[in-house]
Amino acid sequence: MKDTLGREIDYMRISITDRCNLHCRYCMPEVQEPVSHEEILRYEEILRICKGAVELGIHKFKITGGEPLVRKGAVDFIGRLKMLPGVKYVTLTTNGTLLYKEIGGLKKAGLDGVNISIDAVSPQVYQKITGRNAFQEAEKALYACVKSGLQTRINTVLLDENETEWLKLAAFAGQMPVDVRFIELMPIGCAGKASGPSVDYVYEMLKERYEDLHMAADRHGNGPAVYFKSKMLAGSIGFIGANSHRFCSRCNRIRLTSTGELKPCLSYEESISLRKMIRNGADDIQLKNGIKQAILAKPAAHCFSGAEGITERRPMNQIGG
Ligand code: SAM
Ligand code: SF4
Repeated sequence: MKDTLGREIDYMRISITDRCNLHCRYCMPEVQEPVSHEEILRYEEILRICKGAVELGIHKFKITGGEPLVRKGAVDFIGRLKMLPGVKYVTLTTNGTLLYKEIGGLKKAGLDGVNISIDAVSPQVYQKITGRNAFQEAEKALYACVKSGLQTRINTVLLDENETEWLKLAAFAGQMPVDVRFIELMPIGCAGKASGPSVDYVYEMLKERYEDLHMAADRHGNGPAVYFKSKMLAGSIGFIGANSHRFCSRCNRIRLTSTGELKPCLSYEESISLRKMIRNGADDIQLKNGIKQAILAKPAAHCFSGAEGITERRPMNQIGG
């Protein structure tokens, strides 16, 4: 359905857990009480919400977290979601460290694509950012995903501390048909502990390496990334400039947190508690109205340029990115 500004909202990000086996400095607080299991939506509850969302024209879903693959039954849940009538695309975003052994199951479940978050290739830098020496696990899953034919993307958050890594990460798109996407650090949660450049800065660096870098004619993916190609690349390079190239006028999404809060916009704390509605006995029509209400509450734009306007206090691992 359309929001009040005429934007077609057809995409929902679903966080299925706040837990994670990594501890990226810009995402997870050093000390954090995990959300209690009772507060986390059960798979049945998420599927009920998705059924309502599909009826409102939401056909694309991204499964996220925390780290979605730490939750038991995640692969089976993805299969059930993909089988819901009207669901067209289900994709997953993961840090990749638990992915390798799940690839076969995810393909069988009908997963349409996977984004693997990798912020560094050098084990030392990877460990400094994520708190664990796990690059090799993510890399192994990356190669296996591409080999399996799953549409695969790499997500890299731009940080001052991974500048040495950008060209090495871009090189994956030279080796194989993956999109490597560079994402500006968004000022949410504990991102204040880190800082990073704009996508334009990185574009200039990559342009020196890939002289014929040019904007791709086709738009791909569900979101705001702008893609570039080169004859030296089998895949492409994407840029998500959430701060420097605000794309809110093309926003197509809402976000469901693991505790069942439906968020109209990333930067504001405002949300509709679908968990409370479900557990207070809402029927399907009431639930659908709750989803509609969140879509109609979407603001015109985020407020990342003025930190005082940001009212979202939850860390990113609780929201899902
Ligand atoms: N654990 C999974 C992963 O890392 O892909 C899924 C959850 S994670 C919150 C989803 C995405 O959000 C990741 O690509 C992560 O790098 C990104 N992210 C987290 N905090 C961010 C921030 N402050 N700014 C930009 N991206 C962020
Ligand atoms: Fe975990 Fe993903 Fe956040 Fe890193 S970005 S701490 S992998 S949820």
